Amino acid sequence: MDLPGQPLIPATLAAVQPTQLSTELVWGSARVRTVEHLLAALAGLGVGDAVIEIDGPEVPLLDGSAKEWVEVIALAIAPSSPSLAPMPQLPHALTLQDGDAIVCAFPASSIRFTYGIDFPHPAIGNQWHSFDWTFEGFAQEVASARTFGFAAQVEQLRAMGLIQGGSLDNALVCGPEGWINPPLRFANEPARHKLLDLVGDLSLLGHFPQAHFFAYKASHTLHTRFAQQLQQLLES
Ligand SMILES: [Zn+2]
Repeated sequence: MDLPGQPLIPATLAAVQPTQLSTELVWGSARVRTVEHLLAALAGLGVGDAVIEIDGPEVPLLDGSAKEWVEVIALAIAPSSPSLAPMPQLPHALTLQDGDAIVCAFPASSIRFTYGIDFPHPAIGNQWHSFDWTFEGFAQEVASARTFGFAAQVEQLRAMGLIQGGSLDNALVCGPEGWINPPLRFANEPARHKLLDLVGDLSLLGHFPQAHFFAYKASHTLHTRFAQQLQQLLES
């Protein structure tokens, strides 16, 4: 809204510009960063069409999760089980791998998401979470899981001029001795947050095929590259 002509940026895969830290949408000279948590909240509440008015280059991080988005969007609509659009069938399994990072979709009778991460830090380690794609599943198991990072990385990013608004209020931060700002909302909150990111990134498809989505150690870049391949498969 703060740019001349108030340009419209479509929330589609054609506009995706994956970055290291978040998913960015770019259309012409307009760009907006960190769209994934808000997009996940809209998808989780079954909202397929919305106009988001925003000033500035980044969606507010809030507490690092989609909790507040879900709360305010739920006040504006009657929540139903998320569907986005009629769900296409997945003709066959699809896998995208980069080193030991992987994203897959397997044909299934309903939509389900599974995520695993593995960090060589005892506070995080190897952790997993799965949930069924229903409004309750999304709202109760995934929406309030906060983003996480490492204290050393936070300092480095600040030095690069990024995450200027970042603080201990909008991310779980892990130091050498463990979490700097506990308590966690779930024992496996980081794995659940990766599910939130995956849902937000895949929502750029506009609809999820009936599939079990599975990811391990993936990134926004891999999520969105996978979504592009999935879109091609569904349109072929
Ligand atoms: Zn995130």
